Amino acid sequence: MSIPSEPDVADRQRTRLIHGPSACADPVAPLVAPIYQTANFAQPGAETPGPYDYSRTGNPTRGALEAMLADLEGGRCAHAFSSGMAAVATVLRGLEVGARVIAGHDVYGGTYRLLAAMALDGRLHVDHVDTGDAGAVAGALETPAALLLIETPGNPMLRVSDIRLLGRMARQAGTLLAVDNSTMSPWLQRPLELGADLVIESATKFLSGHGDLLAGAVAVSDPELGCRLGWLQNAEGTGLAPFESWLLLRSIKTLAVRLERQQASALQIARWLAAHTAIRCVHYPGLREHPGSGVHAGQAAGPGAVLSLELADPRRAARFVDGCRLFRIAVSFGSVGSLISLPGNMSHAPVPEQVRRRRGLPEGLVRLSVGLEDVDDLIEDLDRALDRALDEFPDGGGRQATAG
Ligand SMILES: *Cc1c(COP(=O)(O)O)cnc(C)c1O
Repeated sequence: MSIPSEPDVADRQRTRLIHGPSACADPVAPLVAPIYQTANFAQPGAETPGPYDYSRTGNPTRGALEAMLADLEGGRCAHAFSSGMAAVATVLRGLEVGARVIAGHDVYGGTYRLLAAMALDGRLHVDHVDTGDAGAVAGALETPAALLLIETPGNPMLRVSDIRLLGRMARQAGTLLAVDNSTMSPWLQRPLELGADLVIESATKFLSGHGDLLAGAVAVSDPELGCRLGWLQNAEGTGLAPFESWLLLRSIKTLAVRLERQQASALQIARWLAAHTAIRCVHYPGLREHPGSGVHAGQAAGPGAVLSLELADPRRAARFVDGCRLFRIAVSFGSVGSLISLPGNMSHAPVPEQVRRRRGLPEGLVRLSVGLEDVDDLIEDLDRALDRALDEFPDGGGRQATAG
């Protein structure tokens, strides 16, 4: 029996979110990749392997997702993992023992913690640099390194690193460039097309977008590198389960509409905050005064839906966060529901206090992830909470002259 294939008309990315390569070779031709909730697959014969044997190694639902992710990232292959951290860990474990890693000084707290543990074990040599400073990266690349790991825009300060420039520098030095793209998602930024060798996603964030699953992904252009990651995924059992793979496939269909709406609201909120006299500074690459806005505009299709702001007094910041009703207090970002957090106390708690200060994580920093609620309701929520925080802590200092 022949299987009707996906229509071959999907050459624009927006269409590919719906009609992309996510079909399964299933004899009843379901329009949606089914959940193959099975551990193993029967072999046609003792000496004849089938297309799948064991779900740790490969599963059709995960396979459909991985094909979709590779397509979205503009890569040759992609692997889906049980979390963003499993994806990061797999990339690091793919390096030889004793390899040197240069990582951004503002990488995700969990990544920072893992790198520190692997350095302590002597598994890796790790140096952190400000990857927004090309001179600092050039200096770090003078000593041979296996991997340069960056996040842009970084979280939570939204610092921008130049992917094309760092890609060229890394290539010249014989170093692989990995970009953790979680704050953007492939809808807004495709690092492989800008010269990165690996792109990592915490799919828990925008790719999922509904705050109902944990997942991670790594996509690459070099098939050999892809095979190594696939080998580790199978050897360590870190692949994403069929149900989560299915949920993620479902979420990806609405990635564009979600992100574009969330981003439009985030821009409106950033402008409102920037005009508020009690806010010292707003960090958002969509604001012209953001120091990285030019570089960002040259490498991404939009500023995204994550931003941060500074209040002069950390107690005022905490009161502000507590006072919000629609913005729920939670770590993570990228969901349809708006979230607010104090990164210093929450997502970035694994980063030691001293390091936090060195890399300039201000104490009164508040991060927002803007969701799909009515933007006027969101602004009213922030306005009320700010008023209350100002009433309670009236002497919190004023705004700084310059942003950033
Ligand atoms: C959340 C996050 C991770 C970790 O992803 P999980 O899915 O939570 O394991 C890694 N990198 C960045 C930039 C993140 O925001």
